[in-house]
Amino acid sequence: MSRYPRAVCVYCGSRSGNEPAWKEAAAALGAGLAARGIEMVYGGGNVGLMGAAADAAMAAGGRVTGIIPRDLEVREHGHRAVSELHVVDSMHERKLLMAKLSDAFVSLPGGLGTLDETFEILTWRQLRFHDKPIVLADIGGYWQPLLDLLNAQVEHGFVDPAHLSLMTVVRSVEDVFAVLDAAGP
Ligand code: AMP
Repeated sequence: MSRYPRAVCVYCGSRSGNEPAWKEAAAALGAGLAARGIEMVYGGGNVGLMGAAADAAMAAGGRVTGIIPRDLEVREHGHRAVSELHVVDSMHERKLLMAKLSDAFVSLPGGLGTLDETFEILTWRQLRFHDKPIVLADIGGYWQPLLDLLNAQVEHGFVDPAHLSLMTVVRSVEDVFAVLDAAGP
């Protein structure tokens, strides 16, 4: 029987932030994916949490596929030591390929790019362009202000509460795996 999910997309910061717990979570996620034989798909950088997750997955013998736009390859330091690095022409191509190659999505702490990626994949699910699990890893309460905003959006009548349940919020990497392990195709 083939494993599900076969590949998981990780969205996270190209910086590490200022709490060691975030880098530790990125490394634990990468290593945990490798230990389960799940391919890690990500933005292809070797910096910040992206690099920490990819390095840990590779060190644990996992398969890591990076996807990076040509223009960013130099700026964001394309990772040369991953299993496969796709260099694509645009950010749109990158995000589409990351989505296509993945069976589920996990967002760790990150910056504007992580927000953009998380909400793009969430809105695509809201519009029924896909029905793959999305997990927001609220490590150390990093995403709490965002969750407050989302709840306010529901309260003010701009967001259907059912659409918020298209993204599962967890507090630890262990709980990310609990969600992934329970997910079915
Ligand atoms: P960040 O969370 O801003 O550190 O970025 C995390 C990832 O998102 C990196 O791979 C960035 O290349 C990517 N990214 C940054 N800005 C954008 C954007 N405007 N749209 C999509 N992805 C972005």
